[in-house]
Amino acid sequence: MRSTFVFLFALALGCRTPPLEVQAEFGIVRAHVSGGLSTYARALDDLAPQIKSLLESSRNESVEVWVLESKRTHVDSIGVYVGRRIELGRDAWEHPETHLAHELVHWYGIQSSPYQNVPWYMHEGLADWIACDLTGKTYLRDAEHREIGELSVGVQAFTADRAIWNELSEKEEEAANRIGYEVVKFLGLARVKSMAASGADPLDYAKAAELISEDWIGEGLITVSIGSELEPGDVFLDRPLQ
Ligand SMILES: [Zn+2]
Repeated sequence: MRSTFVFLFALALGCRTPPLEVQAEFGIVRAHVSGGLSTYARALDDLAPQIKSLLESSRNESVEVWVLESKRTHVDSIGVYVGRRIELGRDAWEHPETHLAHELVHWYGIQSSPYQNVPWYMHEGLADWIACDLTGKTYLRDAEHREIGELSVGVQAFTADRAIWNELSEKEEEAANRIGYEVVKFLGLARVKSMAASGADPLDYAKAAELISEDWIGEGLITVSIGSELEPGDVFLDRPLQ
């Protein structure tokens, strides 16, 4: 589910174009084995127009989806968006529509829509929230997050540009992603869009969602206690509020 930009990885690994393909209206699905091709093609035509419309995306390019033989992608994720295509590992098969929808949010988001200024920590949360909402699923990362438990994350994770974001540990990234999801769930897409359009500060989203204090102005750590649902009290700061 990571949206890491992995063009170079992909080139280095010499990813081979899958030989089987089904042409759908909104794009092409390629795979090494035939199982699931038609399911993904149908899901693509169902989800792509909905997501493009939700995100008000200007991207009109035909979508390319690769269904891999391996359980996970070369970045050890269930799915990945690599700019020119979406890749899904065999592990995506448990919830194919939801994982495809998640990657389609990356495809139609974020650079070519009014959501282009949402902070990095909200990219995954935005994709997760839309994907789960459209496909009738609850949050898919609960199991991983229960393993993470309680975690302190530097404020930098929330205010990061891409360079800093890529330096974060996987756990820090997951904790920040989870906050991003809760922010989108709390605020709703229209509010997130208007905040992005008005150039809101990254922490303003979490403040608006009442996950951190409105008047907090310090630097430091945000501690996230992750269970199946985040409540405001599960996110707290390492210093007294100003
Ligand atoms: Zn993702």
